[in-house]
Amino acid sequence: MRINGTTALYGLMGHPVEHSFSPFLQNLFAKKIGKNMVYVTFNVDEGQLESAVEGLRALNIKGVNVTVPYKVEIMQYLDHIDEVARNIGAVNTIKVENDQLIGYNTDWLGLLASLNERDVYLKDKSVLIIGAGGGARAVAVMCAKEGAKKITITNRTLSKAKDLCALIESQYQIETETVHFEALKERTDLRIAFQTTSVGMYPHIENNPVYETKFYKTLDVAIDLIYNPIETHFLKEAREAGALTINGLGMLFHQGIIAFELWHGLKMGESIKDTCYNVFLDEIVNAD
Ligand code: NAP
Repeated sequence: MRINGTTALYGLMGHPVEHSFSPFLQNLFAKKIGKNMVYVTFNVDEGQLESAVEGLRALNIKGVNVTVPYKVEIMQYLDHIDEVARNIGAVNTIKVENDQLIGYNTDWLGLLASLNERDVYLKDKSVLIIGAGGGARAVAVMCAKEGAKKITITNRTLSKAKDLCALIESQYQIETETVHFEALKERTDLRIAFQTTSVGMYPHIENNPVYETKFYKTLDVAIDLIYNPIETHFLKEAREAGALTINGLGMLFHQGIIAFELWHGLKMGESIKDTCYNVFLDEIVNAD
């Protein structure tokens, strides 16, 4: 890649950002598609978010991704927010267009693409969401938009699950309910389960939000948003009980693709996507 006077700048705003795979991914896409751009990380210190956002405009930066802890806070500084991102209550991608900052959420679209490529569809399905944080909100909105029959949510702090159910019912025509962790083993109707908590993430890889082996026996599909490790304890239990398992790598990859497509106004071909995914997998497997 040759950097010159017309190279466009993109990046990731968050804190911390050092271990993100987004620079690797976005610069890989740029190389494969032939875009004169670079993608870097912007480590934004606490209290500096508003200045950082104004800096995007001032420096003519074309687009950024947003990560923890700013996906919610950043919304107040944007000119427009896409309706679904508003419903989710979080923005992870900003496009700068005619000096206007437009916020999107590509997490839910990335997850949906990773489900569909494994032939998992949500229409008329009863789904379980474990967790009620930012990731769970994207999953719940995705399930509602895709026409799921019912959403059941469980969470360590049950009041947050109740809040999420109320939010979803206020935005979409869908039935929701909350359930205690302990009651999960009695349920046989929840065939698709999304694990959206940070439990089981590296380095605490032996942890699992659900230890009841009976619970896993009724699952057809288990999805974990975590991608490090590639197979969480939750996914291992589900796989051993016979479920199809999907980790968070596809979501991460596809949300990046969708952001890239949004910024550049293009659609990436399937064969370039496949090539990039294989290079990305190599990078993940060989990462320290
Ligand atoms: P978050 O908003 O901070 O929510 C964290 C969730 O985990 C809450 O439901 C919280 O429950 C629960 N939790 C945390 N510690 C727990 C514990 N010890 N026992 C039981 N529950 C616990 O985080 P998030 O943004 O949703 O992210 C959650 C996970 O999703 C992370 O691992 C993140 O890496 C992953 N993620 C992946 C992608 C991807 O592209 N693959 C995208 C987004 C997120 P309480 O409400 O009780 O605190």
